[in-house]
Amino acid sequence: MDNNSPPPPPEEGQGGGAPKVAIIGAGFGGLACARKLDGEPVSVTLFDQNNYHLFTPLLYQVATGLLNPSDIAYPLRTVFRHSPNVRFRQARVERVDFGRKVVCLSGGDEVPYDYVVLASGSVDNYFGNKQLANVSISLKALGDATKLRNHVLTCLERADASDDAELRKALLTFVIVGGGPTGVETAGALAELMDIVAGKDYHSIRRSEIRIVLVEGMDRLLGAFSADLGRYAQRVLERRGVELRFKTLVKDADDHTVTLADGNTIPSETIIWSAGVRPNDVSGDPELDRYKNRRLKLDPQLRLPGVSGAFAIGDLASPAVGSDEPLPMLSPPAMQGGRYVASLIIDAVRGIREPRPPFHYLDKGTMATIGRNAGVTHLPGGLEFTGFVGWLTWLFVHVYYLIGFRNRITALSSWAWDYLRHDRPIRIILATEPENRR
Ligand SMILES: Cc1cc2nc3c(=O)[nH]c(=O)nc-3n(C[C@H](O)[C@H](O)[C@H](O)COP(=O)(O)OP(=O)(O)OC[C@H]3O[C@@H](n4cnc5c(N)ncnc54)[C@H](O)[C@@H]3O)c2cc1C
Repeated sequence: MDNNSPPPPPEEGQGGGAPKVAIIGAGFGGLACARKLDGEPVSVTLFDQNNYHLFTPLLYQVATGLLNPSDIAYPLRTVFRHSPNVRFRQARVERVDFGRKVVCLSGGDEVPYDYVVLASGSVDNYFGNKQLANVSISLKALGDATKLRNHVLTCLERADASDDAELRKALLTFVIVGGGPTGVETAGALAELMDIVAGKDYHSIRRSEIRIVLVEGMDRLLGAFSADLGRYAQRVLERRGVELRFKTLVKDADDHTVTLADGNTIPSETIIWSAGVRPNDVSGDPELDRYKNRRLKLDPQLRLPGVSGAFAIGDLASPAVGSDEPLPMLSPPAMQGGRYVASLIIDAVRGIREPRPPFHYLDKGTMATIGRNAGVTHLPGGLEFTGFVGWLTWLFVHVYYLIGFRNRITALSSWAWDYLRHDRPIRIILATEPENRR
């Protein structure tokens, strides 16, 4: 098979009927792939451990009391309610047996396929530090966001009720690890939440008692953006009272203290982890070619080299671009990859033998918000916006990509409420106290 040829069509689907496509993961990549295959002559099963699609870019807004969990999650069965050929199955995939062409589910079920698309995304990377993994709260899943909201509000409750100066210090210090978009957005949103509640909801807590500390290993924020945009984000966060610690890493932590690699310690009961992710590999095959960061290496048509009928997309995998670099771990490459793979499968089942050009990622720009009226937007060609324009661009792009009309309306009205009233109203602790402790 040459590099550009489509995968060979199965004579007919294993066991008869339309060829079977298994998509593992209903995140940005998997969902885009399934939607493109909707109505095509294939029988698609979309697997996910959750029964909803999650809009991860807004997780931090759930964590900081602005949005409800249901505003950023959309039931997958609703997406495909009218689809004749796409079925959703809530299940955890353990591995794929490429030799026998079956997807192996936890619980023992095996589901045969003709084509498989691996789209299982990524998980937090603690770089092997189990202690940090135990004591940190991450922002990767919906449960993480509500856990963080419960935890932060519980810290405020406990501090408000305590006269112990040392304990109050630890409860009112929030350490965020990682100065990429997630860390910056979370720091900005947390600062806004504290402005709203300190001295008001919590009468005994002064705003000046609350510390938000962002720790970043590099010498600047937003390493994937230009230095100018990084400096802008730094200025905004500093103005909003966030302490920035550059060129150091979090080395260790226990229930009350965070220890930095430069030897400094910070009394804190909260570590928010946004320092990196690693692929969530469901292939179960250690022999597959990988990048240094463990993402699967793909051929230019997003196929797993040497594995019949297998594709991978999104955070899990990448073709090599430039000097053997993978694509960025962002939602647009995942969605574009999902649609591209679906086109290849459609070509194959329709018997179209004309090769498609290799996958080309179209960079439409990247953006982040640092809170009210402050955003950064980078567009291809070097065009950059900051401030209100950057923030407004961020807002409209995120509304556009949110799934579901109701979710768009509720997110927009929550943002309008916050903008006009300076309020993050979902300040509700759902779990009981012991569950909130790290
Ligand atoms: C907090 C946060 C903020 C972000 N902000 C942005 C942003 O502003 N812009 C941007 O472009 N990108 C952003 N990203 C990155 C973006 O979310 C990812 O690049 C994108 O989700 C990758 O898409 P994917 O399809 O590969 O994986 P995902 O969207 O993560 O989907 C993977 C799916 O696989 C499912 N799954 C995993 N393992 C299994 C299993 N074993 N069995 C069954 N199902 C499984 C998961 O439940 C999930 O639904 C952000 C990420 C995070 C965590």
